[in-house]
Parts: sequence; C-alpha cells; structure tokens
Amino acid sequence: MVGSVAIGICNGGKLLEELPEEFDPKVVIADNNRKEIVLGRNVHTSCLAVTEPDADDEVTGDREADMASVLARYRKSLMERTNHHLGYPYNLDFDYGALAQLQHFSINNLGDPFIESNYGVHSRQFEVGVLDWFARLWELEKNEYWGYITNCGTEGNLHGILVGREVFPDGILYASRESHYSVFKAARMYRMECVKVDTLVSGEIDCEDFRTKLVLNKDKPAILNVNIGTTVKGAVDDLDLVIKTLEETGFAHDRFYIHCDGALFGLMMPFVKRAPKVTFKKPIGSVSVSGHKFVGCPMPCGIQITRLEHINALSRNVEYLASRDATIMGSRNGHAPIFLWYTLNRKGYRGFQKEVQKCLRNAHYLKDRLKAEGIGAMLNELSSTVVFERPQDEEFVRRWQLACQGNIAHVVVMPNITIEKLDDFMDELIEKRPTWFKDGKSQSPCIAADVGKESCACSLHKQG
Ligand SMILES: *Cc1c(COP(=O)(O)O)cnc(C)c1O
Repeated sequence: MVGSVAIGICNGGKLLEELPEEFDPKVVIADNNRKEIVLGRNVHTSCLAVTEPDADDEVTGDREADMASVLARYRKSLMERTNHHLGYPYNLDFDYGALAQLQHFSINNLGDPFIESNYGVHSRQFEVGVLDWFARLWELEKNEYWGYITNCGTEGNLHGILVGREVFPDGILYASRESHYSVFKAARMYRMECVKVDTLVSGEIDCEDFRTKLVLNKDKPAILNVNIGTTVKGAVDDLDLVIKTLEETGFAHDRFYIHCDGALFGLMMPFVKRAPKVTFKKPIGSVSVSGHKFVGCPMPCGIQITRLEHINALSRNVEYLASRDATIMGSRNGHAPIFLWYTLNRKGYRGFQKEVQKCLRNAHYLKDRLKAEGIGAMLNELSSTVVFERPQDEEFVRRWQLACQGNIAHVVVMPNITIEKLDDFMDELIEKRPTWFKDGKSQSPCIAADVGKESCACSLHKQG
C-alpha cells in the first residue's frame, strides 16, 4: 500500500507552527481546569493531511482506494457521533434521499432573492416559496416583506441589527446578557453603543432593568434584540412586556426597532399554545431563525424576514450582479432553500406542531428523571432545553456532546431525541455519577446562581 494519504494523527512536533510573537502562549483560558484553550495555537492533532499524488497513483488506483477508506471510516464516525448527540439544538432526524440528484450542481442564489441575476444556476423559485411560508407564519403580507435565506442564524442577527442601525443610525442596541454572542459581535462589527440588560433566573430579559436603562438614554432611539429562546436556558423574552416597557418610557413606535432572534425556537413558538406570539402585527422590525436547528436542514442556513420599507435604507444597486445588494453575504447556498422547501412541504404546519409537542413532552420526561435521581435540573415552561448540573467527567460530556457553561450543562430535546435515547443517557449517567465523587456518594454541586434555588439539588437547597 502506498501511504500517500496520511490518515489519522499528524506529526504534532513537525506541524505545529511557531507562535507569532504577539501571542503569549502562557495565556491559557482555564475553564476550571476542564478544558484549556491556548490562545494563538491551533490544534492540528487530528487533521487529515493533504498530500501530493504519487506518479503512479493513477495507474495503481491506490490513491482512490485510500481516499475511499478514509471516507468510509469518517462516515462511520459520523454515524456514531450522530447517535450520541444531545447538547446542540440540531434536529438530526431527516431523510433527503430525493435531493441527492442535486449535488452535481453548483447552485448559487447570489444577490437579492426577488431580483433575477444573470447567473442562471440558482434556486430562487424555491427560496421565495420558503420565504412566503415564513412571512405568512409571522403575518406579514407578500408585498410588505423582504427576506432571504441566510447562511446561519448568526447572519440573520447580523442582518436584523444592521437594518435597525440603518433605520436609526444613532440608535443604541439593547440586548439581554443571555443573548447569543452573535448579537454582541454585531455591536462590535458595527461599532454600535450596546447596553446589556439583566436577566431573570429563567434567562428572560428583566424588563425592570430594561426600563431603568431606557430612561437613562431617552434621547437616542432604541434598537432591541428580543430572544425567542436563549442559547443556554431556552428562555423566551416576553415580547409584549418589552413593547409595553418601551411605550411606557416614552418611546413611540417610530423611535425603536425590534429584532427577534428566533434562531432556536423561532419555528417552535408558533406551535406552543401559551407562548407569546411573534407577529409583524406587533411593532417589530425583523425575525430570524436557523434552518439547521429545529427545522432539520442538513447544512447550516437560516431565514431572515424584515419589512420591505426598511430594506430600502440598506440596499445598494450592483451593476455586476444586475441586482440589488441587500444581503450580508455575496454568494449564497442555493441548495439550502431546496432542503427547506422539501421539509416544509413534507411536514407542513401540522407536522411541525406534532414534533414540537413531542419535543416538549420528552423534555419534561428528561427533567423529571433527572430530578428523581436527585440531580438539579430546570426546564423553562416554553422550552425543550433541559438545564442541569454539569457532569463532573469531561469524557462523559464529550461522549454525549453536551453543551456546558460554568456549572451547568444542557440537553436540547429535538425531534431525533427519543425516549429510548434519553433512557440510555440516564442509565449511563446514573451508573457513572457516583464514581465522580471521591467518597462514592453523589453530592450535587450548587447551581442555584444559574437556575434558582427551586431547581438546585445541592445539600443546602435540596427540599424535603
Ligand atoms: C444558535 C443560535 C444563534 C446562532 O445561530 P447559528 O445558526 O449557529 O449561527 C443565535 N441565537 C440563538 C439564540 C441561538 O441559539
């Protein structure tokens, strides 16, 4: 065998680059000694090197065979990793076999979805169909909305906040502390003044603190990020209370812009009875959602919807494209709209409703099982994100791909997380947990600061 495709571990010693001088390799972000992130040093330990073909490769076919075996092994590891995934809000339950025929095309929707560009290998007809569906869901007329399919939820936030900034160039951005990091990234990118608002233990925006901060800045318009599901706790900000707070502090509707970050639950909330309704009948400016989370698109993407009147503040005409430039990215994934169109058509409103109900039921099941084992856990009323004590074993955390922050971890129950899977997880957790504590007896760490006393099971806060 000609080992022309290096498989597995790269030679760390040889491939580690010299560190640039401005980086201090001793600056280590130590997360309670759990995982170390060394600034300025990229990890190359598990890379698959690209190597030059040998002269006779074409004749022997060895290279093709080598590459096929790399891919086969990779596929196997993907299957295993897919089966043990609980922490990130990705719906891994889908079947897009019918779309395999399209992978031979370079489909690109560059530019504005509503304006034909000269590049013909596009999927705008699918894209606009999907956008119409979301505009209808959020109650904005066809001739009153503008939107596009983004590369991810982050791009939706970057776009929504940019629209807000173009509408109110001197506006201040307000966002709760538990907003996604992309919101604060937008503030840095656009050099906007940004005010962080406190949160309640649930993770929702604290409107009392919001009121106090608004009053201090009454002379400047307000641009607000409202979370329809926060990343860590799945908290849903109270949109109606946010609007009421703005009105009561003297902000008329032409003095504020609201972007709703629905990356996580934007497509789940419409199907939860008691949830505050996200609709353009309320004075909001834009809504975005991730397409690869609950919707279950196999590649990152998102949907961004805003009011047509706002987009004129943002866009420029571009002769080279024969189009209007109103998107953040230039070239855009033309496959994603087709996957979204396919899923929306297959499941429909009713199908999503059923999946949402299943997710919420299974999330309650997990929370109840954790509590029954004396493990501190919290589940927000409108959410399928179960927050609990961080397992004291990084191997276990990695095996189940749990997302962690400080003392807490979470499982986001998506449609592919079945009761059987949750049972497997619980069985393993119950078996391993006693070994994480020195005396063999489990003692829950205190997570009251993260989730409140009621949800904490440490010796101090344990009830009964
Ligand atoms: C995931 C998430 C985002 C970002 O979405 P990406 O698609 O990962 O870019 C933004 N906001 C919230 C609340 C999220 O959960």
